[in-house]
This record gives sequence, C-alpha cells and structure tokens, in this order.
Amino acid sequence: ALQLKKISKKFGENEVLKGVDINIGIGEVISIIGPSGSGKTTLIRTVNRLETLNGGEVVLFGEDFIQSNHSLSIKKTRAGMKRIGMVFQSFNLFPHKTALENIMLAPRYHGAPSDVNVNRKQALYLLDRVGLLAHANKYPHQLSGGQQQRVAIARTLALSPDIMLFDEPTSALDPEMVGEVLKVIQDLAKEGMTLVIVTHEMDFAMSVSDRVVMMEHGVIQADAKPYDIESADTDVPELLRMRAFM
Ligand code: ATP
Repeated sequence: ALQLKKISKKFGENEVLKGVDINIGIGEVISIIGPSGSGKTTLIRTVNRLETLNGGEVVLFGEDFIQSNHSLSIKKTRAGMKRIGMVFQSFNLFPHKTALENIMLAPRYHGAPSDVNVNRKQALYLLDRVGLLAHANKYPHQLSGGQQQRVAIARTLALSPDIMLFDEPTSALDPEMVGEVLKVIQDLAKEGMTLVIVTHEMDFAMSVSDRVVMMEHGVIQADAKPYDIESADTDVPELLRMRAFM
C-alpha cells in the first residue's frame, strides 16, 4: 500500500531521517517505536506531506506520491492525499461544534474534494463505530480526552482513507483513557485497515502489529514481526534492547 524509499529529512544541519525504507502492504499494521527524538513523528509527517523531503520518495498504491524534487503534478498529489488519514496526538476538535458536527464538517476542513460529504446518518454511524453514539451532541469540553480522541478518529474515518497514520495517539491522555483509544485502533486493525502507528505503548504495538519498526537516530534499527521479537534468539537484539528501556 505504501512504500517509503530512502527517505531523508534535515532540519538545518540536523539530519533527522537518514535514508529510511519501509514497505507496508495493504491491510498491514505497522508500529513505529523508538526513543524520543529518533525521527518517528517526522517520518509519518513526511508521508502526510506535513514535512517536505530532502531525499527519497513515497509510493502509494503503486503510484508516485511524493518525490524530494517536487516533480509530481498537483492532481496526483491530491488523489494520494485523499487516501491517507492522520490522527494526531492532540485531537484538535472544533470547540464550538458538537462531536457530530465535528465529523460532518471533516471533509470541508480537511481538504477533501467538494463532492465528499458526510451526512448526519453517516456521522452517527461513525460515532457508533468508536462507541460514542450516546455523546453525539456533546461539545469537546464535555468529553474526556479519550472520548475526544475517539471523535478525532471518527472524523478521520469520515474522509474514507485507505491508510491511517497515528502519531502517538495516546500520549496526551491520562493513563485510564489510553485503553479505550487503543481498543478503537485495534478494531480498525481487525477490520483490515492499513495502519501506521507511532507509539510508546510497547505492549500494544506488540499485540496489534504485523510488524514493529524500531527507529534510532533517524535510521531503522529493526523491522520484525512481534512473534520473532518475542521468540528472538538472534535476529532482533536491537528491538529487545529497545523493549527493555521503553
Ligand atoms: P518523540 O517520541 O519525542 O515524539 P520522535 O522520534 O517522534 O520523538 P521527532 O519528533 O520526529 O522524533 O524529532 C526528531 C528530531 O527532529 C528531534 O531532534 C527534533 O528536535 C527535530 N525536529 C522535529 N521537528 C522539527 C522542526 N520543525 N524544526 C526543527 N527540528 C525539528
């Protein structure tokens, strides 16, 4: 579904990504873990075009999507953007709109083409999917952090993405809210959505992912199946080391 090829990114002299390669198949769930500052967030922001690349390319469903020389047509880029949804650490809901309205407004405010609309019934369905039907008419301040993040996930689903990127979706939450958000992500994984999740929740990463990618200093130290990590004797010492300090 998504191929990252030799992605590199610098902020001034600071080379944050140093030639990162990851292949993500359709329906695959990939978690990206690693110490603070290793480049995880920057990597998924490049995929969502929130950061430009200094080198490398991104191929989406077999089509060129991002190139470091910016040579692609706007049409191609827009077509690709429609297929990717992103969920952030901070939920960024409109404070003066209800949960339902936040979802119905999503296509308009997130760059979707004007023919993409979410009607009330669809928005209610999406809220039900994240377990919040009963809270449809509440405003963000009346919801817990975990509930707000679930609305944010429903809002992203409203754009009908083929791939969802999660940037530390539970980092801003009180510990007791983490589980409900991870459960929603787990449900998406079960339904076959292609997911790329940057997370510090190691146990979750191990249970939900097809592969766990470990980054350190802008390079991939390991890319392995959870089973291989659990039962590793030789292949993934770096991941095991990682596991010990997360
Ligand atoms: P964390 O787990 O703490 O979120 P991370 O692995 O996601 O860390 P990044 O947020 O990708 O790491 O940051 C990698 C490096 O890039 C850090 O050294 C950070 O200071 C730097 N960096 C990130 N964004 C910018 C920016 N907009 N301008 C300058 N430097 C940046």
